[in-house]
Amino acid sequence: MSSSSSSSRQGARRHVYGIPTKCWCGQPLDTWVSDTKENPGRRFYRCRIALQNKTESHLFKWIEEALHDEIRIVDAKRMDLLRDFQAFTINTQAQLDSQRNWIESRDEQLKKEMLQMTTTIDEATKKMTEQFDAELATRIKTAAFVAICGAMSYLFWKLR
Ligand SMILES: [Zn+2]
Repeated sequence: MSSSSSSSRQGARRHVYGIPTKCWCGQPLDTWVSDTKENPGRRFYRCRIALQNKTESHLFKWIEEALHDEIRIVDAKRMDLLRDFQAFTINTQAQLDSQRNWIESRDEQLKKEMLQMTTTIDEATKKMTEQFDAELATRIKTAAFVAICGAMSYLFWKLR
């Protein structure tokens, strides 16, 4: 909506940040074009009652000021998002580092355990082999002794 109106009045206005949605009196806002010498062609928000009764306190705001506010709001939100994203990235990186450290330490532990197990198995195998060899040697000796005794008995019996 656009209308030619004289409104250079700026007194008694509270600051409204961003694009205003309603006047302080509760009325919806319209957009108007200033035709004053100071602000020719400049657009502003104002309710209809304010234009008729200029003594009352109603919202007044230049449209380009409201748009600048909006740009600042969007910029601030963007900066917030950027900060959030950076914080998220740092946090995720820290978590990944922590998990990698855990995996590496676990890997180290597993390697140690594997080495220990291999050593234990090697030692057990060596011991078993030694025992087996010793037993085998004893049996061979016993068998040889029995064979020699047998042969001697046979010879003794034959030569008698
Ligand atoms: Zn109003």
